[in-house]
Amino acid sequence: MLYSAYRAIRSLVFPSSCIVCGKHVDDAMHGICMQCRLDIPLTNYLHRENNPVKERFDGVVPIEQGSSFMFYAGNSIWRTMVHRFKYGGAWKTAYTMGRWYGAELKASGLYDDVDVVVPVPLHPIKLLKRGYNQSTYLAEGIAHSMAVAVDRRSTCRRRNNPSQARRGARDRWENVDNLFKVRHPERLRGKHILVVDDVLTSGATLTVLMRAIKAAVPDCRISVATLAVTKYITTIDR
Ligand SMILES: [Zn+2]
Repeated sequence: MLYSAYRAIRSLVFPSSCIVCGKHVDDAMHGICMQCRLDIPLTNYLHRENNPVKERFDGVVPIEQGSSFMFYAGNSIWRTMVHRFKYGGAWKTAYTMGRWYGAELKASGLYDDVDVVVPVPLHPIKLLKRGYNQSTYLAEGIAHSMAVAVDRRSTCRRRNNPSQARRGARDRWENVDNLFKVRHPERLRGKHILVVDDVLTSGATLTVLMRAIKAAVPDCRISVATLAVTKYITTIDR
């Protein structure tokens, strides 16, 4: 009885098939097999103070550090993995990738004074439909590895805006204006906040969220970490 409970818990923490390629493995570290760990299209941005993610926000919204863990391109299994945790119910995968990403962020030394991790919030209706916010699980994993707190409640999304994916640049901006509200600025005062999202495409949503946080909490500092980034960030500055 005890042993089967142990096995059930263990299989949750260490699944026997790789969360990326699905192959059965015994040596999966955090549920990802060695081959996939070697094949992941890493950006290595987290080791560089100046990189395309950081540069994306230069002059748009002041940030301390910015990084994306991997590239999101082509028809790779990594893209499929992100898609699965975004739309296919695989929230555990988001958490697992967050644990890995968080360990690397910690090792880089550039994120040492982060106090709190804030996921990009979903609107409650979307949350109800999907059942979970993938960015929250990603944030939970990152925060666990960095040994800092997650704040899910200080920010919220005002509107249930349609997906950004099929919109043009002008539409995107109109779509995200005043999208976020900071409900509890006092909780973020004086802190170094790591804002977390799954995929960075144009940065429009992140920009609007970070501007809202900065406006409500002028003495905070903000860094950005997204799990994936498209090879070419579509710039839609205004
Ligand atoms: Zn694998």
